[in-house]
Amino acid sequence: SEDKEIKREGDKNAYFFFFSGSLGGRAEVRALSGEIQKAFEGFGNSEGVFEFGTRLGFYRLGESVGKGCFGRVYRAEQLLTGATVALKAISKRGLRDRSSRVKVDREVSILKRVSGCQGVIRLFEVFEDSDCVFMVFEYARRGDLVRFFQTRPLLEEPQLRVFFRRVAEAARSLHRVGVVHRDLKLENILLDENFEPKICDFGISTLLDPEKPAKDTGGTPVYLAPEVILAEGNVGPKTDVWSLGVLLYLLLFGYVPFRANDVQILYQKILLGHFRFEETDVGSPELRHLISSMLKVDPASRLSLDQVLEHEWLASPESKKSDPLPLPESAEKGIFLFLESLGFPRAYIQQSVSQKAFNHVSACFEALAAQFRSKKSHLSVFD
Ligand code: ATP
Ligand code: MG
Repeated sequence: SEDKEIKREGDKNAYFFFFSGSLGGRAEVRALSGEIQKAFEGFGNSEGVFEFGTRLGFYRLGESVGKGCFGRVYRAEQLLTGATVALKAISKRGLRDRSSRVKVDREVSILKRVSGCQGVIRLFEVFEDSDCVFMVFEYARRGDLVRFFQTRPLLEEPQLRVFFRRVAEAARSLHRVGVVHRDLKLENILLDENFEPKICDFGISTLLDPEKPAKDTGGTPVYLAPEVILAEGNVGPKTDVWSLGVLLYLLLFGYVPFRANDVQILYQKILLGHFRFEETDVGSPELRHLISSMLKVDPASRLSLDQVLEHEWLASPESKKSDPLPLPESAEKGIFLFLESLGFPRAYIQQSVSQKAFNHVSACFEALAAQFRSKKSHLSVFD
């Protein structure tokens, strides 16, 4: 076996030595690695699917960064890789009735479908223990847009164009895989370290069925599209266009287009599509035209996202997007070797990564790969 060791040394590359040099020596990594090696002792002889369940102990929890109806979101460290992630913990006590458990399972299956779409927060893995369901995501360092605009002025129109285009493209990438988000709003748009918007929170999203239009209800009152309020089974991609119209208006003026102290009055205004441009000196005619075309009560006369992106206000050459960098082959190899050195069998790593298993080894792979996939270019509109 010494021969084998030497031969394998030769395969190792600079990336491997970088990872094992910076992480391999940590006490917690060595302890977890021992646990992994033990768990996989019987792997070679196992028939069928091998399950390696993640424990919460594979993460070190940091501060809480968000709170929703069912759970909390924490900043956390993925111990094996040292990567910073977001960990959403949903208490099972709140999920006692079957329908809330079904909702969580639905959120997870939609997350798996959209993870990897451009402009969408990436899901790394999902696991559970007796108390909680945990979802682990890439961490958006600059938080959500509500928090962001608390300390920043609104964008000028040219910057708004660049930024909104990215958001609209991200929403379109969801529609292309058959998902309507249904809750697009400031809270659910995060910013990564390069100020790139990342859509999150698929808690009430709808999977489109071409045979059967969706009738889903619920959402955030001021962003609700008329067809959601009417609940007549007309929910589709144009529902997100409405919310994005509300968002665009809000980003331009600093307040939403439909306002009322009473929810019923608010819904009346939305159903009639009654809103105004109150400030005469803000917003070009083209931008106002775009907003009005997104806030058409009848979905049939509302723009689609493709049309939004072709609208004269948005279709300017200055807002060209940059594609994420592909993962260099040697980096991929280095990550594989590092994960193997921790005790995961090579076949298990390959299987988990290629089949997007959303287990711990694919989560570690994606977290390390993210460092090389992140965009070089910087969305500088916020600088
Ligand atoms: P629900 O509405 O289904 O209850 P939620 O609102 O509790 O969901 P999220 O919207 O997913 O859950 O997260 C809540 C908040 O936590 C976000 O608004 C954001 O501030 C923060 N957050 C969530 N995910 C991340 C992430 N990946 N990186 C950084 N912050 C995040
Ligand atoms: Mg939310």
